[in-house]
Amino acid sequence: MINRRQWLYGVGLMAGAASRARPGFALDAGEPEEAGHHPLDLSEFVPTSMLQVNESRVERARFPLIDFHTHITASAKSEKGVPLASERRFLAAPDELLGVMDRKNIRAMVNLTGGYEKGLDQAISRYDRAFPGRFYTFTEPCYEHWKEPNYPQLQAQAIEQAHRQGARGLKILKTLGLFLRESTTSGELVKIDDPRFDPMWDTCGQLNMPVAIHVSDPLAFFTPTDRFNERYEELNNHPDWSFYGRDFPNNAELLASRNRVFAKHPKTQFVVLHVGNFAENLANVAENLDRFPNMSVDIAARIGELGRQPRTARKFFDKYQDRILFGTDATPHGDQTPQQVFNDQLYEIYYRFLETEDEYFDYAPAKIPPQGRWRIYGINLPETVLRKVYFENAARQLSIAA
Ligand SMILES: [Zn+2]
Repeated sequence: MINRRQWLYGVGLMAGAASRARPGFALDAGEPEEAGHHPLDLSEFVPTSMLQVNESRVERARFPLIDFHTHITASAKSEKGVPLASERRFLAAPDELLGVMDRKNIRAMVNLTGGYEKGLDQAISRYDRAFPGRFYTFTEPCYEHWKEPNYPQLQAQAIEQAHRQGARGLKILKTLGLFLRESTTSGELVKIDDPRFDPMWDTCGQLNMPVAIHVSDPLAFFTPTDRFNERYEELNNHPDWSFYGRDFPNNAELLASRNRVFAKHPKTQFVVLHVGNFAENLANVAENLDRFPNMSVDIAARIGELGRQPRTARKFFDKYQDRILFGTDATPHGDQTPQQVFNDQLYEIYYRFLETEDEYFDYAPAKIPPQGRWRIYGINLPETVLRKVYFENAARQLSIAA
């Protein structure tokens, strides 16, 4: 049996030689520290790897790509996780974006959080229309009208309206399933397969608008934020990301509810973001891809997961090469979440993961790995697969000619 001191050493909470650790609970209050042994706060532990292996720098993607998952604009107003305004916040001017895009070989960015009505118009005219072929904007459900009895029809019409305005798809945030409630921000949680959304899903199918859908979150967000949680630091930094307890459904319930939507709307294309929101279990994602021909996935903000299982990931890419889209979740000035901050370094990490065989490198431009303390391994995709993942699969969803 290991004692607490040895356990702390094992997870890097303490410095010093394990052999000198003695049984007991030296960290307990009142007990003097043994000379040479110093407790170390986890946040201060920044080990330098002594491993000497090849380090590639991939400054540009090998082929021009579409980043299918970015956030250039965001809702100006949200309450308890529910966006409630057409008005947009603009996170970056087009020039700032185009500089990075040109350096990194990014042909186009898909701005998923374009909102609706007037805000959507502003987003489309500022980016999509001003720089044709470089930006594509998606619309979002208008939850401001949620409580109105004819919401199903209103929302279907809102999709038609957004389509006329130039929106290329529909984005569903994890709001659905985890935040939206019967009285918008209070009452019972609304289920993902609530039939009031059926006309919305169908309209997207009729108009050939893909649905980029985020459902659930990493498995660790549904377990207690304690010393056993592999994302402890991340949840400590973002306590509102924890869906443990209260009235939240678990991950399996959320995915099952989502799957019922895919089954009920076979003519609608769903791009399930963040590797189908279950990158920890690629066998499960594969099973669902096999079950639902109308399902694809993106890899945004999940190379940390894919890259720590490089052999399984590589097989997954080989098998589902026509249904995996490149995406990053890039958010300009998103410094709070280094795994998705829009900058040159972020893209170089993605390219290194996809294009090289490098070993044991950081999955995010950050001193401490933000989504869990591990590193990743490149999967060195063949060129035919790379072309599909970088461009062709997204182009097909967006009806863009190559
Ligand atoms: Zn996102």
